[in-house]
Amino acid sequence: MKLFWTSADLLLKSAVICFALLLLPANAQDTPKRETHGINVGNMDRSQVPGDHWYLYCNGDWIKRTELPPDRAGFGVFAELGDLSDKRTSGLIDEIAKSNAAPGTGNRKIADLYNSYMDETGIQAKGLTPLQPHLKAIAAIKTKKELAFALGQTLRADVDALNNTNFHTNHLFGLWVAPGFSDSEHYAPYLMQGGLQLPDREYYVSESEHMKAVRKQYQAHVVAMLKLAAFDNADARAERIVALEHAIAEKHLSLADNEDVHKANNPWKQADFSKNAPGLDWAEYFRGAGLSRQPVFIVWQPTAFVGESALVESTPLETWKDWLAYHLIEEYSPVLTKEMDGERYAFFGKVLQGAPQQRPRWQRGVRLVNVYLGDDLGKIYAQRYFPPEAKAQAQAMVANIIAAFRKRIDALDWMAASTKAEAQAKLNTLYVGIGYPETWIDYSSYEVKPGDVFGNVWRGKMFEYDRWVKRLGQQIDRHEWSMTPQTVNAVNLPLQNALNFPAAILQPPFFDPKAPAAANYGAIGSVMGHEISHTFDTEGSTFDSKGALRNWWTEEDLKHFEQSTARLAAQYDTYKPFPDIHVNGRQTLAENIADVAGIAASNDGFHASLNGGTAPMQDGFDGDQQFFIAFGQNYASKVREAALRQQVMVDPHSPSEFRSDTVRNIDGWYKAFDVKPGQTLYLAPDERVRIW
Ligand SMILES: [Zn+2]
Repeated sequence: MKLFWTSADLLLKSAVICFALLLLPANAQDTPKRETHGINVGNMDRSQVPGDHWYLYCNGDWIKRTELPPDRAGFGVFAELGDLSDKRTSGLIDEIAKSNAAPGTGNRKIADLYNSYMDETGIQAKGLTPLQPHLKAIAAIKTKKELAFALGQTLRADVDALNNTNFHTNHLFGLWVAPGFSDSEHYAPYLMQGGLQLPDREYYVSESEHMKAVRKQYQAHVVAMLKLAAFDNADARAERIVALEHAIAEKHLSLADNEDVHKANNPWKQADFSKNAPGLDWAEYFRGAGLSRQPVFIVWQPTAFVGESALVESTPLETWKDWLAYHLIEEYSPVLTKEMDGERYAFFGKVLQGAPQQRPRWQRGVRLVNVYLGDDLGKIYAQRYFPPEAKAQAQAMVANIIAAFRKRIDALDWMAASTKAEAQAKLNTLYVGIGYPETWIDYSSYEVKPGDVFGNVWRGKMFEYDRWVKRLGQQIDRHEWSMTPQTVNAVNLPLQNALNFPAAILQPPFFDPKAPAAANYGAIGSVMGHEISHTFDTEGSTFDSKGALRNWWTEEDLKHFEQSTARLAAQYDTYKPFPDIHVNGRQTLAENIADVAGIAASNDGFHASLNGGTAPMQDGFDGDQQFFIAFGQNYASKVREAALRQQVMVDPHSPSEFRSDTVRNIDGWYKAFDVKPGQTLYLAPDERVRIW
């Protein structure tokens, strides 16, 4: 997982139209305007002892006074900035809509797409009409051969193993196009397991009482959706659909296994699929997907492909047809009638995430435009909201933090000279994108029609699929971005050896050109350090300076690295958000390594930026104290129980509180806050995990 964080929105990706259930803010203008620059002392609870309750020390008063809005599963600094970005983006859409742009122009598409979603009356009047031709096509399937073709037609570019990390697709399989593992100069097709509606296999196989209850409610939800789509025998159909999904889930790999790149490099020739994974008519499947002529695919989870393909053969045709129909209905329900949209939210939003209320429609509309025309909107956003001075200052910070990494690598006493040389080479070729991309997506072949939101979304997904399929075998662009400028996040792209820091995260409180260096390095600097360190984490260390999958470590170096990281995994295994579940140290390992390494490098970068001088005090705090508090304040958050449970299950990131507490691995924190043995977070020097 290479994102800096996973919003509750992203965890709802079973929504495929991932804007649909967004946990967006109700009123961005409710956020108090900050007049000060630097750490936010008003958010702290200074009655707490930092060594005992670090998270509350940094964020206690914010937690006390912040109420979770009813339309959110969680809320925090990221969500606050997400609000701001959405409000700004919404303002831009309004301007564009009023400008009455000429047909065929990018601006006209933005306006038409947004308005087609906002036209609730029109959507309601159409009812099930947009679905009918697709449901009819499914009903007409007569053989397993035709089924294979239809399954192939559902393939979309909707998964992403290493960049924006999304292992979930409700379609039978998902396609990810990215630089090849063995030929990182050209784009290759990666195929990934799919076929489930619930977020992960655990939801189907876990024997916990909580999950059993969720499954019961899920089955009722499937019945309700089928009834809304006017299917007869909804109960019996739902039972068979859920049983099929359960069988698929049993073949799936766990999230921790999905993240193990070493298990993923399985090139299969197209001709070998029917031998390797018999059952599905693969020739028909690839014909349906428009990929008949693609000679080789990289199969991420071979055992799941074997299992899912066999299920196509062993499960009755009628069950598969019901499964196809239900998955289609579920996927498009956010742009269908209010009853279908509401029923979907009642399960995926309320039951799975605990948020009683859906976001206002305008905010979902903004996210829809971000999904399908995000670069066109982002171009305007970046011009308006990201001045060149901010870009220059952020670039200088990145340079200081990279320099700190270089020094840290050179100083490692356990690492062989040859490994160090390749690590330095990776830093030499690392591309750091700040603010916005150098090239933009060309949407000219994406057709947007007024008053046709269903068609607009359908064609948007096809446009994205075709855009990627066309690039198979072509030369890669290492400077290509995987995020829009208006996204509040950051990402490491390991196969490109590149980082993206979108304009929307380079905002206060993460980054404030007027704030003292201590606060900027503690907040955004540790995010930058986090992303840089992914270059060398469990996953990053498997790619060389050109992005090729290659082991450039000596055996002893790798052993040392694995021993230290195993200790970090064990440390996180002890964290329990609720008495019956603990954080999965292995599932969250790469992110936890990045957090520890990110603070360490950013703290070095901060000290280097002082050029031997002393940092100014703020509210009685010296430079290092401000640095660590700013880091801790990145993680102020409130999350509903259901959402937090889901996060622990499916998110490669640890819950916020434990991310903030990782300062206990950093020597400088002990000194800054006089942390002593006997305090809750105290670790003896040899128990602190130092990785870089
Ligand atoms: Zn990360």
